Amino acid sequence: MTTTPARDVAARLGETFADYVPSLEGRDIVAIRPSYGLMIGGRERPAESGATITTIDPSTGAALSEVAEAGPADVDAAVDAARGAFERRWRDAAPRERSKLVFRLARLLQDRAREFAVLETLDGGKPIRESRDVDVPLAAAHFFYHAGWADKLQYAMPGMRARPLGVVGQIIPWNFPLMMAAWKLAPALACGNTVVLKPAETTPLTALLLAELVDEAGFPPGVVNVVTGAGATGSALVDHRGVDKIAFTGSTGVGKGILRALAGRDVRLTLELGGKGAHIVFDDAALDQAVEGIVDGIFFNQGHVCCAGSRLLVQESVADDLLGRLRRRMELLRVGDPLDKNTDVGAINSHAQLVRIREYVEGAVAEGCAVHQPQREIPSQGFYYPPTMVTDIGGSERIAREEVFGPVLTVQTFRTEAEAVARANSTRYGLSAGIWTEKGSRILWLANNLRAGVVWANTFNQFDPSSPFGGIRESGFGREGGRQGLEAYLELTPVRP
Ligand code: NAP
Ligand code: MG
Repeated sequence: MTTTPARDVAARLGETFADYVPSLEGRDIVAIRPSYGLMIGGRERPAESGATITTIDPSTGAALSEVAEAGPADVDAAVDAARGAFERRWRDAAPRERSKLVFRLARLLQDRAREFAVLETLDGGKPIRESRDVDVPLAAAHFFYHAGWADKLQYAMPGMRARPLGVVGQIIPWNFPLMMAAWKLAPALACGNTVVLKPAETTPLTALLLAELVDEAGFPPGVVNVVTGAGATGSALVDHRGVDKIAFTGSTGVGKGILRALAGRDVRLTLELGGKGAHIVFDDAALDQAVEGIVDGIFFNQGHVCCAGSRLLVQESVADDLLGRLRRRMELLRVGDPLDKNTDVGAINSHAQLVRIREYVEGAVAEGCAVHQPQREIPSQGFYYPPTMVTDIGGSERIAREEVFGPVLTVQTFRTEAEAVARANSTRYGLSAGIWTEKGSRILWLANNLRAGVVWANTFNQFDPSSPFGGIRESGFGREGGRQGLEAYLELTPVRP
């Protein structure tokens, strides 16, 4: 097995990164062990079957490590550990104690931010600039925010008695591995639940490192358990009779399967699923700013973003102007080594995802759409796909309807506000939307009429732990963040006056 030695990482980060990673001399920037076990009951152990999966660096295809693949027996052990920790320690822990530990976890994550950023980029392929400036800080912010709620739940839920649910199974995707772990763990722990977390097959490493910090922070063993593996591991967690709640973030297809599997069982569920967000630009918008928003909306994290602004709707009168500016901006995007801090678009997370993206774009061409890609070179090794704009769209094409989950933007025009809203809403999803206009009344009217869980105006992809995030329709149900996000992890009963 080939691993990525620290010196190679250092070379790829470049000398300009020396101040960002001060530990280049004599110490690994990030120590990746050749193998990792499951984290169950505060101890690391191999899968009972001995099975492992290899996680790779998608920017090179090189193996990073072997990770245990949990089967039903391991999931059973993890749920048992979580149950024991819930009943013996965590449920009755003083709220201020929970608060303190979640706060400590946030501090530890901050202390090791650089290591987490490099590891996230190596394992998943996202640009280091994003891991460093978005993923890790936002993950820490989520823990800080929820540490504050842990001993104030009675104020968050006035008139209600708030009790933890018990053992929570949490299943997360590969696009924001650390951030999704934080969005899941922080509210669950603050509310007094214990957790069995299932990271995605291609990106398990930051969740495992986080589990080490959970231990270091002093959480009782078994409060957080991590079962790595593939889809079957997630499925075993859903099927386990000992979980009180499942929190799932992932594709709409798998989410629907989970909904079916839980039908008739006394298990709470929240689903954060796919999206096909509309990004609407009016003729009075500041066009250069809108272009930046559009670029961020679809090329951030290679477009592996549930709330990506993947459908650009532009008012006809400015369409040529806007698209000209957008094409010129796309020429400037650097696609390449995710560890290079100047990279704008990193590696596609897996070969399977790369194949899926190619198929969507080839299908669009076959259906008569026009495809524009900048003429810049992209690396020949590893998994890469260029920023792509698809025009000549009628609306019924697959690429116009389905979530591509890659750096691919579709473009349509509209004339009136009503037409923009009708187009934006003609999707089975309902996660995000963006509006670009100088007119406040128009923003309010659109925000009221767009069927999306999150609507941004003159900005895009803004996240804040205090702001509830989540979808409607086939984008799922339940919220993460804010006071509303706590409700997903509490049993609420009215208190008599
Ligand atoms: P996915 O295939 O649905 O996988 C999500 C997670 O579920 C992974 O850990 C996966 O394991 C696991 N899984 C797969 N099959 C399962 C099954 N039958 N039962 C239980 N768990 C199972 O989605 P993905 O491709 O990783 O992620 C991309 C999707 O997530 C996109 O649709 C995106 O829009 C959505 N997403 C939504 C949000 C949101 O907040 N709404 C945020 C981020 C992403 P393996 O990976 O190991 O197969
Ligand atoms: Mg990987």
